[in-house]
Amino acid sequence: MKELINEINELKREKDAIIIVHNYQCDEVQDIADFLGDSLEMAKVARDSDKSVIVVCGVDFMAETAKILSPNKMVLIPDKDATCPMAHMIDTEILSGLKSHNPDSLVMCYVNSTAEIKAHSDVCCTSANAVKLVDHFTNGQPVIFVPDMSLGNYCRIETGKDVILYEGFCPTHHRIFPEDVKKAKEEHPAALVLTHPECFEEVINMSDYIGSTSGIVRFIEKSDCKEFIICTEQGLYHRLKKENPEITIYSPCELNICPNMKKITLEDVRDSLENMQFEINLPDDIIHKANKALKRMLTP
Ligand code: SF4
Repeated sequence: MKELINEINELKREKDAIIIVHNYQCDEVQDIADFLGDSLEMAKVARDSDKSVIVVCGVDFMAETAKILSPNKMVLIPDKDATCPMAHMIDTEILSGLKSHNPDSLVMCYVNSTAEIKAHSDVCCTSANAVKLVDHFTNGQPVIFVPDMSLGNYCRIETGKDVILYEGFCPTHHRIFPEDVKKAKEEHPAALVLTHPECFEEVINMSDYIGSTSGIVRFIEKSDCKEFIICTEQGLYHRLKKENPEITIYSPCELNICPNMKKITLEDVRDSLENMQFEINLPDDIIHKANKALKRMLTP
């Protein structure tokens, strides 16, 4: 493994590349990251990097987002089959139908969406800023929130605004059931429950903190508690344990693993840099329109 990591570092220098990695990636891929974080942080790092090549270790919409924000850079995803099922639960035809039924609405899309959906939206958001943006951009105007029903519903409850929901969801977060959390709380009464807003509303209601993966990282940094039940994808546990060796983490179940997030291997990262594969290319008009929705998210 050491040899492979040396090879990756050598290629990175040679190709003037930066490797940005999502918190849900495999442990060994997290460990070679130049930057490790959530979707919002990854988007900002991709935008601000002075490197000419950006290797995105995550899923397709994350690489597309990097390309939209940095159209002149080469953006690579090491496995072209690393896709997010939630992002593909809606298409532009369905979105047009929602818009025609709610003509005066603002369209907000979760960053977990395709470039085409972003191009047809007014503003984008991530789980780190969705509540703030729903609050900021609406002024008596309803919001069509796509594709994640759970995050949209959480924004609706938190802001009291008129949020029109679509039926998309994260299959991984929806494998965490309220009964799992109830059982975990009974078994570990001293633990705090920290939950990603892609979870079911009932799970959110049982939680001590709700936030993005980076929100969970920051919460633990500041907390005096030493035990946590973490309701999100298990990849985050690696980072949390590494940065906080004194804490104990409990998973509410065994099934909160996203197979799409686990597709990229170190060999894929090496091959990606060696062969400059797989490059993200998007039509100019999609980049232009989607960029507007992303820029509104980044500078509210
Ligand atoms: S964890 Fe859920 S939202 Fe994230 S990539 Fe996997 S399926 Fe998509």
